[in-house]
Formats: sequence, C-alpha cells, structure tokens
Amino acid sequence: MLYDQEAHAAEMERTFIAIKPDGVQRGLIAEIISRFERKGYKLMAIKLVVPTKEFAQKHYHDLKERPFFDGLCDFLSSGPVLAMVWEGEGVIKYGRKLIGATDPQKSEPGTIRGDLAVVVGRNIIHGSDGPETAKDEIALWFEPSELVSYTSNAEKWIYGVN
Ligand code: UDP
Ligand code: MG
Repeated sequence: MLYDQEAHAAEMERTFIAIKPDGVQRGLIAEIISRFERKGYKLMAIKLVVPTKEFAQKHYHDLKERPFFDGLCDFLSSGPVLAMVWEGEGVIKYGRKLIGATDPQKSEPGTIRGDLAVVVGRNIIHGSDGPETAKDEIALWFEPSELVSYTSNAEKWIYGVN
C-alpha cells in the first residue's frame, strides 16, 4: 500500500541493539548486522566499545535483584560490545522477533539466538524490549550527535512511500 511520507515518518522507531562480547569474539558481527540490514532496517549509529562494569550495571539496572546480575555485568564488560541504533517501522518489537527468545533453547530456528546460540548466559545479542527502554538505552550508549539521520534510497522500495 502506498502512503505518504508523513504517515511513514510517524511510524518510524529506533531501537538499541548490541552484539555482546560472545557474538563479537565468535565472529558473528557481519551475520547479525546483515539480518537487520536485509530486513530493511536502517543503521543510524554503530560503535565498538568495552563498557566498564559500572556502565553494564546501568544498562541492566532493571535486573539488579536477579541472581545472575553480577555475572551478567562482568560478562558484558569483559570485552568489546558492538553498540548500534537501528531505525524502521516497528523495529523495536520486530527486532526482538529477529533476535528470538532470551533462552536460545526456546528461540525458534531462524532467529538470531535460535540459529547462533545455545545457552542463556551466552545469547550473543541484546535488543531493547519496548519504546521507553529503547529511548533510555540509546541515550545511555550514544551521544545525540552520534546518531546519523539520512535518507536511504531503498526506503521508497521498502515502505512503498510515495
Ligand atoms: N540472563 C541470564 N540468565 C537468565 C536470564 C537472563 O544470564 O536466567 C541474561 C541473558 O544474557 C539475557 C540478559 O540476562 O539476555 C538480560 O535478560 P532479559 O530478561 O532482559 O533478556 P533479553 O531482553 O536479553 O532477552
Ligand atoms: Mg532485556
């Protein structure tokens, strides 16, 4: 269905996606990026960082009461993380579908975790779980100036925007 630029712009969302140290070390960066890219989402920001443990604790603050919190934060801060912002219609919710269930043993085949990971503690990728989290996580990991807005020529073909 063709619809106008304004309606399209109103539906656009941004989500925070990170390839965790296990995904980086296992050489899965290109594989994971290609799944978001081929789907039709647009990359707005990307950087390789080694977060401090304090930063990891901020990122996972919602989970601080959980027994795995300390180990999780140690792990996230143990090596390079590829931090990204992806943009698209419905990217927050559908990005989580591409990623699959938290426990790779419950992730469907065809999802990133289903295809590429085996255990919950090494599930290779993070994705924001809702609009508020996406906003907070993008603000935690990126300065506003690091987000690059641009028009992709593919957009009219992906969305049918006239
Ligand atoms: N995690 C874990 N053990 C658990 C549950 C979660 O090690 O029993 C880790 C796992 O790496 C997961 C992260 O904690 O990705 C954050 O948990 P959350 O429930 O937010 O899952 P996600 O949003 O990543 O699917
Ligand atoms: Mg989560």
